Amino acid sequence: MNYIQLFPDEHIYSAVIRYWYKSGDMFLTRRHRFKLHDIPFHSFKVKAPLWTDINRVIERYRFSEPDEYLLRLNHTTLPLLLISAEYEDLYKYVLSGKGYRYREARINSDHRWRLCPICFQEEQQRIGIAYWHVSHQLPSLMYCTVHNVRLHTHDSLSVLDNQLPHHVIDISEPILEAEEWERPWQDFIVKLYDKMKTNPQWIQEALTEIKSETQHWHRPENFGRTKHIHSFRREIEADIGFSFDYLTDFTTNTPKDVFNMFWHPEQLFKTRVSPSSVLLGLFWKRDHLKCFEV
Ligand SMILES: [Zn+2]
Repeated sequence: MNYIQLFPDEHIYSAVIRYWYKSGDMFLTRRHRFKLHDIPFHSFKVKAPLWTDINRVIERYRFSEPDEYLLRLNHTTLPLLLISAEYEDLYKYVLSGKGYRYREARINSDHRWRLCPICFQEEQQRIGIAYWHVSHQLPSLMYCTVHNVRLHTHDSLSVLDNQLPHHVIDISEPILEAEEWERPWQDFIVKLYDKMKTNPQWIQEALTEIKSETQHWHRPENFGRTKHIHSFRREIEADIGFSFDYLTDFTTNTPKDVFNMFWHPEQLFKTRVSPSSVLLGLFWKRDHLKCFEV
């Protein structure tokens, strides 16, 4: 079985691509390469990081992190997926320790992969090659948390197709438009990601707290009519100071998901809920929840 070394915080996709280049297999025709590596040919592109191929890839190679759960926790978007619609099913995987098949979902409305120019230089010097970090791809993250500089991206990176950072460093540019909401969002998403990595059951504790706290909160009208959905959306946007559109794969369900999360938690995971909706709800009420205290 082929052995693949992972670097700290490296996404599995990045490690596989590095491996293909290093082994020379990247220079085979695409079809031949997938056949040789026994991976489905059709969809190995990463608008959503690896999508369903994540399972095949994990099965197919031996990684430097031998524990499958830790591998997924530290080198895929699993931590944030654990707050999503497939939450209950994913937990079966987490609790059983193995075997659950999931696919990596879209967690970011901006699909472009991002890199930090300073991480890039340091890795080039230290290990000879820079790699894609999981933590740089957190939804709407704009800064490297280690170097506090703006992340770089490029439009061609919305579907990562065999590129490593050195293929795009010359054309990538800092993500534009520093907005006021970015700093609070940055602090929030990094903190949440760290919490989920340290304690994947954190979301369960958070939802339990939410269930008891919401009784004391102002309860918006139920969604009998479209105007209620719009007014609830405006209420959230006024509180957080920006439009949903910046953060989420916004659908008309988003306000309803957020409403259910706080006032009908038993409804929340009955339908497919995007992780973005739950993130938005948590961000909205983060200052009112003890689970966000350190
Ligand atoms: Zn950095």
